[in-house]
Amino acid sequence: MKFLFPGDRGTFVEYLQLALTRAGHPVNIDGIFGDKTCAALSAFLGSGGNCTVSHEVWQRLRPYLVGYTRHRIERGDTIASVAAEYGTTEGAVFVANPTVNAANLTVGSELVVPLGFPLVPERVKYSSVLNAYIVEGLLARYPFLAGGSIGKSVMGKEIPYLKIGTGPTQVCYSASYHANESITTPVLLKFAEEYAAAYAAQADLYGAFAPALAARFTLFLIPMVNPDGVDLAGGVLASGSYYQKARQIAANYPDIPFPDGWKANIEGIDLNLQFPAGWENAKRIKFAQGYDKPAPRDYVGEAPLTAPESEAVYQFTRQNDFSLIIAYHTQGEVIYWKYLDYEPERSREIADYFGEVSGYAVEVTPGESGYAGYKDWFIQDYDRPGYTIEVGLGANPLPMTQFERIYDDNRGILVGGMTELL
Ligand SMILES: [Zn+2]
Repeated sequence: MKFLFPGDRGTFVEYLQLALTRAGHPVNIDGIFGDKTCAALSAFLGSGGNCTVSHEVWQRLRPYLVGYTRHRIERGDTIASVAAEYGTTEGAVFVANPTVNAANLTVGSELVVPLGFPLVPERVKYSSVLNAYIVEGLLARYPFLAGGSIGKSVMGKEIPYLKIGTGPTQVCYSASYHANESITTPVLLKFAEEYAAAYAAQADLYGAFAPALAARFTLFLIPMVNPDGVDLAGGVLASGSYYQKARQIAANYPDIPFPDGWKANIEGIDLNLQFPAGWENAKRIKFAQGYDKPAPRDYVGEAPLTAPESEAVYQFTRQNDFSLIIAYHTQGEVIYWKYLDYEPERSREIADYFGEVSGYAVEVTPGESGYAGYKDWFIQDYDRPGYTIEVGLGANPLPMTQFERIYDDNRGILVGGMTELL
């Protein structure tokens, strides 16, 4: 995390304000590092007005972004006293420490302590840093989850995934292929958190009994396929050689706002035009539209799977055995379910169900964007249901104020991607 000073603005200031609010020093989360944020920070630090956010300060704020901390057990501690000390519940501590013996705590050993707030924020802009923090936090708070990385971005950032459940039928949801569509990332992260909480509580998840779901399905979530691009479009990546190169690419396309209009990966390749399904057709169409070289959007690359992020999704899909995939995009409130004349068994029926529970339209992909997408390739190669879902309405990037509505619209789909296969 970069240093922050009073007067700074942007996504990291939002994270500072979020962390302070969660730490009991509430401030408006507006991304502007003003006097009130400075006052809250010095109250948090006991620093008497020094408002520089250095590496050390970020370290102290970190538990409020990853949602947990560690506690070394001292003589006299009980689970109840530890929970009370950190403002959380005994239940949450037990979930995070499944092997702990409450009757006989070992002095000197460590407990993971989930802090007492929902982990997935709904009002801050997402970045690769926040995505990684939340994945880390979910794994710590819910150790029955599994996770890892499907590969690395151009800039060497991990592309994390989460895995929920151990059942024989595999399903995969992925999001943020396009840089300025990062509102789709918390859709998957929040679903992971709600699913994990329901599983831990042996409770229902939107009408489905979570432990039964987990026994029937293994759900893979890839919340941010394009971490470099998300950081660029969100203003987090605003210097350095990759940024300068992207800015030069964007200068060739003056009608596309920079960085807000950026959809591609950091090298100007559109990750959802990289899959080996009618790629030559996509190339012909996009070249004719003027996207014949690296661009903020719609450039197909020199060949399929030349972008490491698309290649990672492709390989991850081949290494597993997904019965259904959903790729999340914005915007339009539309569900695309078909590729050419391929109509996998039950695909239309499940699409209609998704349409019903979300209120989204169920449509056939328009010809000009009907090739080389992840769902196109998945349908073509596997003949199984694959969907592109365009959430929200308006111009990208959609504001986070749309998140609550988008999540409400999609939770039935997220559960239904599993239950509809039963
Ligand atoms: Zn998209």
